[in-house]
Amino acid sequence: MCGGYVANAGDSDLIIEGVVTDSRKITPGCLFIPLAGERFDGHDFAGDCLQAGAAAVLWAAPKETPPGPGIIVEDTLEAMQALAKSYLAACGTKVVGITGSNGKTTTKDLVFSLLATTFKVHKTQGNFNNHIGLPLTILAMPKDSDVAVLEMGMSGRHEIELLSKLAEPETAIVTNIGEAHLLQLGSRLEIARAKLEILSGMKQGGLFVYNGDEPLIKEVLAEPATVKPDGLEMMTFGLGGANDDYPSGIMFMEDKTVFTSRSGGSTPLELPLLGEHNVVNALAALAVARHYGVSEANIAEGLSRVKLTGMRIETVVGTSGITILNDAYNSSPIAVKAAIGVLEKKRGYRKKIAVLGDMLELGAAEEDFHREVGRFLTPEKVDLLFTYGPLSEKIAEGAAERLEPGTIFAYHDKSELIEMLISMLHSKDVLLVKASRGMKLEEVVDAVKNSS
Ligand code: ATP
Ligand code: MG
Repeated sequence: MCGGYVANAGDSDLIIEGVVTDSRKITPGCLFIPLAGERFDGHDFAGDCLQAGAAAVLWAAPKETPPGPGIIVEDTLEAMQALAKSYLAACGTKVVGITGSNGKTTTKDLVFSLLATTFKVHKTQGNFNNHIGLPLTILAMPKDSDVAVLEMGMSGRHEIELLSKLAEPETAIVTNIGEAHLLQLGSRLEIARAKLEILSGMKQGGLFVYNGDEPLIKEVLAEPATVKPDGLEMMTFGLGGANDDYPSGIMFMEDKTVFTSRSGGSTPLELPLLGEHNVVNALAALAVARHYGVSEANIAEGLSRVKLTGMRIETVVGTSGITILNDAYNSSPIAVKAAIGVLEKKRGYRKKIAVLGDMLELGAAEEDFHREVGRFLTPEKVDLLFTYGPLSEKIAEGAAERLEPGTIFAYHDKSELIEMLISMLHSKDVLLVKASRGMKLEEVVDAVKNSS
């Protein structure tokens, strides 16, 4: 299955159950897959792993032989990817592949929640969406799974192609095209091309569900160089009325959003998530669920029960009673505007406060993107703005054009920011916290949460 041959296995049959790449997390009977990292080479731990109960190890170290039962391959990462591909084919599991600049994990959780009402479904845990995480997700799948919902992430060209050819999705979703990874890719058009690589590994006659509000997706679809499967079916979703599915009658409530999906009849659907962007994510998931024949009753049920992976606009109530919208998981220009949209719709609070940190990896125009976000802020959206980090100073600069003087505070030091913020907070305030992962703004969330 992984293109290797067996060594040192002795006479007895070896049964392997599961794979593990972290030598500290060996499970009995597993196959230990040593990967070469920046500081360590997993091969050095193979002996310990066998002692700890691994049934066998994958082995690619030249010349030497494994310190026990092993499968000899040329490259352990490629072998793991090949193993995942063979396993998926052996299980006959259908794959829903999800990519896009924002909303992949959210949409994955939504698709899972809808399909799980009717099928046995496996999904990516957390954010395991790259060339290592995706095969590990597949190899952790129970073999009787009907559908696997897999997130596919990237930071450059040909990464999604590799993931798509590995998982061969029957259904693929592109949530949107944003500015994340502009640094590596150079233009939004190139980002769109990278995302549409998901088509290149799709099964014949598959379904492609994409955001019809984004003209670049249509543009790339029409390019002769775009590789697509035969008989591809397509469906669009988005806010625009020209899409195959679009929402109407959106109502933003304190802890949920209610909307009607135009292709699903007139019954309002309840989504326990906030923000228009999550309605759009839900539409993508609805298209997939309907494609697989999930009933409208199960769709409504699945949607109302969705559980998200942490820190994606999570509402946290602090000790003092303050409401925190924790969106510290990541940020980008589209995502931060979506989050501010949620803050704007909040009613009944004393003050709406935003703590915004740097958005990383945006390339040469990074300062402009930050200034642009600042200009997007108006007194209807926020009462107080705190920025954190050198780039976010440009957010503060942009915001100064429209917000009142004395309502903007720019910091480079997190402890100083936290101290000032806490001194100004009131239990009846609502606070949004958002930045790129690297800025670790969850420290602000924790400090505010525990302050009295
Ligand atoms: P990553 O690339 O880090 O894996 P992701 O694509 O999986 O991110 P999510 O984790 O689902 O995205 O969401 C991250 C943040 O992006 C959310 O907290 C929200 O602010 C924003 N977001 C989610 N969906 C959308 C959307 N459809 N449009 C714009 N912003 C969105
Ligand atoms: Mg994700």
